[in-house]
Amino acid sequence: MDKILRIDMGAAGGPVLKTEALGDYAGLGGRAMTSTIVAKEVPPSCHPLSSANKLVIAPGLLSGSAAAMSGRISVGCKSPLTGGIKEANSGGQASQVLGRLGYAAIVLEGKPADDTLYKVVINKDGATIAADNGLKMLGNYDTVAKLAEAYGEKVATISIGQAGEMKMSSASIAFSDMEQRPTRHAGRGGVGAVMGSKGVKAIVLDDAGMKMRQPADPEKFKAANKEWVAGLRKNPTTGEGLPAFGTNVLTNVINEAGGYPTNNFSTGQFEGASKLSGEAQAELENKRGGEGSATHGCHRGCVIRCSGTYYDKDGNFLTKQPEYETVWAHGGNCGIDDLDTVAMLDRLDDDFGLDTIEMGATIGVAMEAGLAEFGDGEAAIRLVKEVGEGTPLGRILGNGAAVTGKVFGVEHVPVVKNQAMPAYDPRAVQGVAVTYATSPMGADHTAGYGVATNILNVGGSVDPLKPEGQVELSRNLQIATAAIDAAGLCLFIAFAILDQPETFQAMLDIISAFNGKEFTADDVSDLGKQILTVERDFNAKAGFTSAQDRLPDYFKTDALAPHNVTFAVTDEELDTVFNW
Ligand code: SF4
Repeated sequence: MDKILRIDMGAAGGPVLKTEALGDYAGLGGRAMTSTIVAKEVPPSCHPLSSANKLVIAPGLLSGSAAAMSGRISVGCKSPLTGGIKEANSGGQASQVLGRLGYAAIVLEGKPADDTLYKVVINKDGATIAADNGLKMLGNYDTVAKLAEAYGEKVATISIGQAGEMKMSSASIAFSDMEQRPTRHAGRGGVGAVMGSKGVKAIVLDDAGMKMRQPADPEKFKAANKEWVAGLRKNPTTGEGLPAFGTNVLTNVINEAGGYPTNNFSTGQFEGASKLSGEAQAELENKRGGEGSATHGCHRGCVIRCSGTYYDKDGNFLTKQPEYETVWAHGGNCGIDDLDTVAMLDRLDDDFGLDTIEMGATIGVAMEAGLAEFGDGEAAIRLVKEVGEGTPLGRILGNGAAVTGKVFGVEHVPVVKNQAMPAYDPRAVQGVAVTYATSPMGADHTAGYGVATNILNVGGSVDPLKPEGQVELSRNLQIATAAIDAAGLCLFIAFAILDQPETFQAMLDIISAFNGKEFTADDVSDLGKQILTVERDFNAKAGFTSAQDRLPDYFKTDALAPHNVTFAVTDEELDTVFNW
């Protein structure tokens, strides 16, 4: 990965492509690449949909190599949802393919003068861009089908649906999976709206004729990768729990812990949780046949394979196995206990190109506002369809929970920096709540997954209901996560590396052998801190202060059942998260 592709969408006479050397960005990957480019090249005060913003797509440092789990991709920009810097992370095929094609980043910049829609094609001969208004207002599924027809069934695609074209703040960017379906999304922060503002509907990646990236020290790399895979396989979560039940294995766990946000975060347990659980989902999927629920990867080189396939009642493909966050967002958070309804909402979100967490939280707020009853699945489907159709109500909902709460006068809106909270109530899982409050990304569980240590006793144990130890926990996890996101590794490796020193060492050895330069635990920490510093600096210049590093007040005043607990980490403690 020795080059960056820049596409100036605002050039006179039409888009201009330029391939350049890495220069100052040499040695960066994934989130380190996206956040560094955005911080250096995007004016922090710019409008996120203006020509001054840039959309950066970067494979991880190890992507395109034989390193297991190395196919995650980062998308960065100034976020239309939060107003701060954004890195949204996704699986799918694109990262491995882009890595093999030799690109460390694609940067979309400028803004077209009219509403022509473009597609970019990158293959072994280079990159081209062409107008393709035939793709206008197509969903991701139809878009990918058309691209497959034109470019073959082996290409990887990056695309936006209607929500991105309408520049909604909940719009995602879809990455095709191994079956060439647009099921993997860089969901958070409205990155799809920025791609829409650049007039780019799709990017097609074809690595035919390209080779896997080779490590500097092949023997050491091979041995470390073997140890790495063995460590992931022997860990009970990455070797058994996630492959068997997917991420939705968490529904029963979080519900039993009293941290399952129900009916717009009004209580911590949902009586219909068992009907939504990973166990129930696996049973249903296996009964319906086909590929079933188990052992399905979202990209080449994944050995955990936490994903699966969801078929409808008639045995037809409906969507990928909905993730825990999606099942919660459209399920318990809206009082809905029917998996088929949740799967349909997941399919609609993927097709329109919407962040499932933001949409579920938004529907929850809309239900609290009285637009529908909690538990009314048909109404939820109708509301999401309004978003895809771009009706006036749909435009409001498509701009997220904060906008919806404001428009309909709702007091309880679970957002930080305007971004909706994920599937863990901050009062009952206070470690992840510190991450929600302080992450430069806005409320984001993946930025520092305190749930691991609070609830799952991975990497030690910190009482989830008490404030003690949460700041340190979140700090350490945010640092480690930023580095993992830079490497392009799937975050689920954390379950194994937090508890198995030899597996953590194997990860370091893979990076060392690949780069031909020793990479130590201190280097992981330094890289994570460097990324977070760059991101916080951008946000400060965009006008963020410590006032934005807070949860909404009601989490500090309204006790959550069943533990009757409020968020108790003080503001002063929150302000020490980034003191290192
Ligand atoms: S563990 Fe799951 S999310 Fe991670 S890379 Fe594999 S399939 Fe994708």
